[in-house]
Amino acid sequence: MPKVHVPSALRLYTRNLSSIHIPGNTIRDILVALQESCPGVQRHVFHEDGNLRGFVNIYVNEENIRTLAGAETRVDEKDEISIVPSVAGGSHTPDSQMLSHEEIMRYSRHLILPDVAMEGQRKLKQARILVIGAGGLGSPVLMYLAASGIGRLGLVDFDMVAASNLHRQVIYRTDSIGQPKLDAARAFIKGINPNVRVDLHEATFNTRNALDIADDYDIIIDGTDNFPTRYLVNDVSVLLGKPNVYGSIFKFEGQTSVFGVEDGPCYRCLYPEPPAPGLVPSCAEGGVLGVLPGIIGTIQATEAIKLILGTGNSLVGRLVLYDALAMRFREVKLQKDPKCRICGDQPEITELIDYHQFCGVPGKSENNGKDVRDIEISATQLHRKLKTDPVMLVDIREPEEWAIGHIDGAVLIPLGSLPHRLSEVDNNCEIIAYCRSGVRSLHALELLHNAGYPSAKHLRGGILAWSDDVDSSIPKY
Ligand SMILES: [Zn+2]
Repeated sequence: MPKVHVPSALRLYTRNLSSIHIPGNTIRDILVALQESCPGVQRHVFHEDGNLRGFVNIYVNEENIRTLAGAETRVDEKDEISIVPSVAGGSHTPDSQMLSHEEIMRYSRHLILPDVAMEGQRKLKQARILVIGAGGLGSPVLMYLAASGIGRLGLVDFDMVAASNLHRQVIYRTDSIGQPKLDAARAFIKGINPNVRVDLHEATFNTRNALDIADDYDIIIDGTDNFPTRYLVNDVSVLLGKPNVYGSIFKFEGQTSVFGVEDGPCYRCLYPEPPAPGLVPSCAEGGVLGVLPGIIGTIQATEAIKLILGTGNSLVGRLVLYDALAMRFREVKLQKDPKCRICGDQPEITELIDYHQFCGVPGKSENNGKDVRDIEISATQLHRKLKTDPVMLVDIREPEEWAIGHIDGAVLIPLGSLPHRLSEVDNNCEIIAYCRSGVRSLHALELLHNAGYPSAKHLRGGILAWSDDVDSSIPKY
């Protein structure tokens, strides 16, 4: 009797038998006999009109019956007949991965793409992605991943929505100002796609919590805006063996790649050392074109989706550089560094470290060994002092920031030109530096202290604090 091989998708009708001997002279005879002994099989194989269904192929030995005589193909005693559903895998799909009718309609333009189709959409539904930072990059990433049907999105952020976020962080609205970003982000995601599970991690991503948080996810997306967190995200990705979809933006330029994949490079292979503190300003200090994170974040979302689908050429081993002013994408090759401290042949870093220390970012309580109280002055103290003492007030921001507003009597010496304009600093009076928020002025202090102005101080909280506490006519930005 001919032998019929049953695919695992149909074995629930064949009492789990993987092959059955069925009598018959043609394929149709055999399938009818199979239906009689195993009810339920036939409707998976034939349309009601008797034609073979398009997603099932039937082979006699190695020949597809479509190339023979179809259902009327004749079979011999020793022939082997295989039923092969065209869906790869073909195993029974658990209910949790099934798509509802609503989802099938929602994702229909994916479902008709051969590279996504039902199987890919189910993979997206099963996927768990962690997005570090719900800001400029996080906004388009979350928006597209939610719309695409990622089953579970984890968000890490601790900030409130500020007015200065709105020109690029497009998931927030004017009436979100003052709300926790995570609450507003969840509302936005649920508005796009209520099927997405949203996990909120309202915390700074740090050495203590990072591995625990990330362990629950398949892919990490780096939407951070500072170097300590960027190295932390990289190390978490390498230690846990999870891909890190990297993006960074500054002024008019962006970078993106995929790190932390086996045999691919990591962020430390590309940048073994962080830049000196203050050398590379943040977006808060240097500015950023509002639309830029839209481009880079959308590429990050694309790469994450491709990783899940297992399709296309990922950015593993390639760094894309985007210049919005020139409107040009360039690409450079990245190699895994065998001497990399975390993913190399003999890794030194086997657990998370102190990333603020690694990046040389001054901690909150100390600067250059000096007590923080000796080097800073509050806005109200400065206000009083300006009325009585000789003070040289140095504004170390950029001319564009000076034009937004500045403190009367200040002298503009941008941080970058301070080293060769030290001769303009008057040693006969007290020197007080200020910037926007009090971060860059700490770097200016380091310069001033080392250049022979050991008693120089800076304005705590920068001109933002001045606007809050002394002169509200100065706009905050
Ligand atoms: Zn590496």
